[in-house]
Amino acid sequence: MIKEAYNNTFAEGERVGRNTFVELTKLLTKKGESKAGLSTYYINLRYSASIFTQMMKRVSCFAFASFDEQRFAKEEAETLIEEWKKMQMFLMWEYSNKHLKIEDGDRTHCCTYALGGTCTRKHKTESCKKCSGFFTFFQTKVKDFLTRVKEKEFTESSHIEELQSMFDALPKLTYAFTYYMAHRLRAHVQFHAIRNIKQKLRNDPSKALIVMDHKQKILQMKFREGQVEYYGKKGMSMLGTMIIQWSNEKNGFVYRFDEA
Ligand SMILES: [Zn+2]
Ligand SMILES: [Zn+2]
Repeated sequence: MIKEAYNNTFAEGERVGRNTFVELTKLLTKKGESKAGLSTYYINLRYSASIFTQMMKRVSCFAFASFDEQRFAKEEAETLIEEWKKMQMFLMWEYSNKHLKIEDGDRTHCCTYALGGTCTRKHKTESCKKCSGFFTFFQTKVKDFLTRVKEKEFTESSHIEELQSMFDALPKLTYAFTYYMAHRLRAHVQFHAIRNIKQKLRNDPSKALIVMDHKQKILQMKFREGQVEYYGKKGMSMLGTMIIQWSNEKNGFVYRFDEA
């Protein structure tokens, strides 16, 4: 049904192929979300990575008119997959743990700059290649490769249509990856703020942190419940309050709960 509505909305030349369409629908709906505790950003990232790998593998199997061209395309597609795997590994840990800083002279590392604040440092004109690479990988590197493939001769004419659907998917891939980066950046800032608050409480035991929030609803929970399902439950939310203080006697934090 969605596919039908999509076909009615978009002119034939602007449509993406069936597989890409299914993957993109997963990306835009909660359908891709099935694992508990995993953020939608992360799941979208994994989906996009698998779309990209499938795209490259598909190009490797195209029916090129020349054997040499087939070989070159296969090799280049494999190199791009390898390069992509390394970038993804980098994004999973090193990016937020080693590159992101609350304030930095490099725009791609500076959280204050990204969140619209004023950083005390002067920003360099050149940015870290590893981090800025995520904004250009699909739109330049992969696009160049697909453009070169498009110029070749094939024994099957349907490849051109397939290639077009891949071109159309590229901006969506960049979108999924840069959204994940933004998610990591926000998490980095959040954890930094939590560390700061804890330090302040430790330094002065007379200080208290009061957290007031909606409590968990006491309702059934599914096995591997996703975030959208978790937060989308009906029923009234109870408001809970928690007071946190540092205790020198206990040499640790003391938590007091109350319900409002
Ligand atoms: Zn900065
Ligand atoms: Zn970097």
